[in-house]
Parts: sequence; structure tokens; C-alpha cells
Amino acid sequence: MAAATDREREIDMRMNDKLSIGTGRDREAAPDIRTEVRTDTIRAYLKKKLRSDQILSDKIDGKYLSDAMGRRKGAAALVVFPESAAEVSFIMRSAWENELPVTPRGAGTNLTGATVPDGGIVLDLSRMNRILEFDPDTFTATVEPGVLLADFQSYVEEKGYFYPPDPGEKQSTIGGNISTNAGGMRAVKYGVTRDYVMGLELVKADGTVITVGSRNRKDSSGLSLTNLLICSEGTLAVITKSIMRLLPKPGYFLLALVPFPTLREDVSYTHPTLPTKRMVKNSGRGAQHYNKKTRDVSDD
Ligand SMILES: Cc1cc2nc3c(=O)[nH]c(=O)nc-3n(C[C@H](O)[C@H](O)[C@H](O)COP(=O)(O)OP(=O)(O)OC[C@H]3O[C@@H](n4cnc5c(N)ncnc54)[C@H](O)[C@@H]3O)c2cc1C
Repeated sequence: MAAATDREREIDMRMNDKLSIGTGRDREAAPDIRTEVRTDTIRAYLKKKLRSDQILSDKIDGKYLSDAMGRRKGAAALVVFPESAAEVSFIMRSAWENELPVTPRGAGTNLTGATVPDGGIVLDLSRMNRILEFDPDTFTATVEPGVLLADFQSYVEEKGYFYPPDPGEKQSTIGGNISTNAGGMRAVKYGVTRDYVMGLELVKADGTVITVGSRNRKDSSGLSLTNLLICSEGTLAVITKSIMRLLPKPGYFLLALVPFPTLREDVSYTHPTLPTKRMVKNSGRGAQHYNKKTRDVSDD
């Protein structure tokens, strides 16, 4: 780090010279020089702890700079592939000290530009893909964030259990599903990802590791930080472990595609299949009540 600090000083001097005598264009270049120095510093620092195949700095593949749509491309100085929470913590602390932004990334299947980096580091969590624990007594499984949804679903179903959240993209990661609160085709009956997250291990921006929630259903003290973190799209912390709730595997699966001529008919036929007696639908015109016996939908 000492050499890097010397380099920082040298660049500070260069920048000061430029700023005192420089033109407007030099002033504009100053932040770029600063970023360049920080990037060099962090690259050298990361190389001390990570293998060379865990750091990508030259010829970064465009897929790491975009999302599944590929409409927007960002820029990054480094792509880093941690393999443990300790490595995530080390990378985050290094980025924090060098004031470089970090964009966490699962499988990059989002469609909203959520993994388009704005400089700095892309933190690719796909190598943290182990199912760490399966606990049939508490109906939970503990996983690393890079576990693919398809693999997780197959794993628990082979054991006679069921993980309901089912967004269309099965090659997405559990960490990405939590960070986007993914829903999918089973959401109306079973809920969304949020309903299946019991606890999280997180690395904060400064590298501190914390845990929130637990595998216990009755865990109600304090603020629900677990819920705050779900759907935060990597803006608050990096998920390095999660405890996921499971259900018993249903006796059979049935997929049906039923076309309806109008929304009203759709509502009146599908509501009786849902578990509650009296459903409320918010149609945008105010609340509507569904009467299960008469199959009438009435305004409030
Ligand atoms: C064909 C298709 C169908 C889809 N269908 C549905 C659907 O039916 N319902 C639905 O809700 N969604 C759907 N989606 C969206 C899908 O839910 C998301 O693409 C997916 O959840 C993102 O997972 P990912 O691993 O690819 O995450 P990424 O795309 O890599 O990341 C998504 C966000 O999560 C953050 N992130 C990722 N991992 C972590 C981590 N470990 N810690 C902190 N932040 C992290 C990223 O920074 C980013 O903000 C669909 C997508 C596709 C391509």
C-alpha cells in the first residue's frame, strides 16, 4: 500500500499543477486521473489476495457491462469473481477505501439496466454457488447467492420439498432473485421471493459482514432489515448467504392456459381458485370486492 500512497501523492501533485496553471480541459480531466490512480491501486491490492483468474481488467466482455436486454452498456475498470464472503468483504473494503463504485451481479438476467456499471468494479457472484445446508426440520435451505434458481428448485424437489418463486428466467441466481424480489407464474397462489427469505448474510459497503433474520419463524425483535434488503437491487449491501423457506412438494403440478374474453370474466373465474373467502381487487378505480357465492364483483 505504501507504493500506492506515493503514487497517489505524485498524482495529487500532478493534478494540483494542472489545476493551478491548467486550462478548463485539464480541470475536467482531473477526476479521470484520480479514478485511474484508484483503479491501479485497488488492482494491485486485490492481486495480493485473489488469484489472477478472479480478476478481469483487460478486454472486459460486454456482457459484464450490461443486462439481459443489452440496450445500455456501462463501463468498469475491473470485474472481480469472489468465492467467499471473506473475499467479498475484502473487495468491498478495498473499494470503499479507494472510493470506487461497486455493482453486484448475479447472472445478469435483469431487464432493467440494474447491472449496468457506472465505472469502478463489477462484483460477479456467480462462483459463490454452493447449497450450504438443507434442514428438513425447519423447512429451510441455506445457499450462496450464485446458486441458480433451476438448480435450487431441482435440488429441493428431489428431496420432496418445494421452492415456489418461479420467475420466467430459471438461469437467474437466488441472490439476484432476492435483490429484485422476483415473482413469476406462481406468485398469486404462493407469493414472491420476499415470502421465502428467512435470513441473510450481508457485506456492507465498508466491508463489514452482518447477519439479519434467522431460520426461526418466530423472530420478531427489532427492525426487519431482511425486508429492507429484499429488492434493494444491490444498493444497500451484497448478499453473501441466504436462508430460504421451503414448502412440502405438492402431489402434482398442473399448468393451464385459459383465455378469457374480458377482464371481468377472468376475475370472476379465477378468484374461486384462490384460498381466501373474500378477495379484494384493486382495479385502479378503487377497491372492488369479490363475492365468492354469487361470483359478483362490486365496487366499494
Ligand atoms: C426471460 C425472463 C423472464 C423473466 N420473468 C420474470 C417473472 O416472471 N417475474 C419476475 O419477477 N421477474 C422476471 N424476470 C426478471 C428476473 O426476476 C430477474 O432477471 C432475476 O431475478 C435477476 O437475477 P440475476 O441473478 O440475473 O440478477 P442480476 O440481473 O445479475 O442482478 C439483478 C439485480 O440484483 C443485484 N444483485 C444480484 N446479486 C446480488 C447480490 N448477491 N447481492 C446484492 N445485489 C445483488 C444486481 O446489482 C442488480 O441490481 C425475468 C427475466 C427474464 C430474462
